[in-house]
Amino acid sequence: MISRAYFELFNEPCEYTTSLKYSHAFKGFNANIKMRTNHIEVRMSREWKGVSEDIQVGLIQLLLTKLFNKKEKRSAQETINMDLYKRFIKTLPKYTTVTKSDPTLLESFNRVNNDYFNGFLETPNLTWGEESFSKLGTYEYATDTVRMSTILAKDANLLDYVMYHELLHKKLQFYDKNGRSFHHTHAFKELEKKYKDPDAEAKLHEFLRRYKRKSFFKFW
Ligand SMILES: [Zn+2]
Repeated sequence: MISRAYFELFNEPCEYTTSLKYSHAFKGFNANIKMRTNHIEVRMSREWKGVSEDIQVGLIQLLLTKLFNKKEKRSAQETINMDLYKRFIKTLPKYTTVTKSDPTLLESFNRVNNDYFNGFLETPNLTWGEESFSKLGTYEYATDTVRMSTILAKDANLLDYVMYHELLHKKLQFYDKNGRSFHHTHAFKELEKKYKDPDAEAKLHEFLRRYKRKSFFKFW
């Protein structure tokens, strides 16, 4: 991970040996970097283990910038990972390592994780959002949180379909190798089509149409 961070920051291969350690010695989200002869060592708190690799790369790039600026060897440009890291840090006050998981959402997550990710995805925070039919689900990278509209509580198939979509965001992250930001890439859409119910998208539209009509009568 350090070599990747180095390469994407300085645009040249990392000629140092590297090691990355997750340490109990730090509190919160602290980290440090050291250089001894030709070896770069990065140590991060254990908390970092649960954070997306792209954000960790941003942190390492900031540490590398400090390290090499001090030595007055290099200057580096701001990378998308550094930006990700900064945004992550801004959300830290509300960041919790996975603590929120509603039972219904957890069941849905487990089904989707087993069926499409071989059970390999780590459980994100799982919460209900508002009763919205314009925003059915979101995935927030910085806090690793899937948030679902409460209207999906009524239909497990559609809940799983939207869950699958959000978990693809968790898995694929949101930019390609050239550093440009894309959420719904071609690869994303191809994977999304693998959902077991090929009519899920049509059913979702029908469900929303009926739901809106019902709520129309309910509220007016
Ligand atoms: Zn999406």
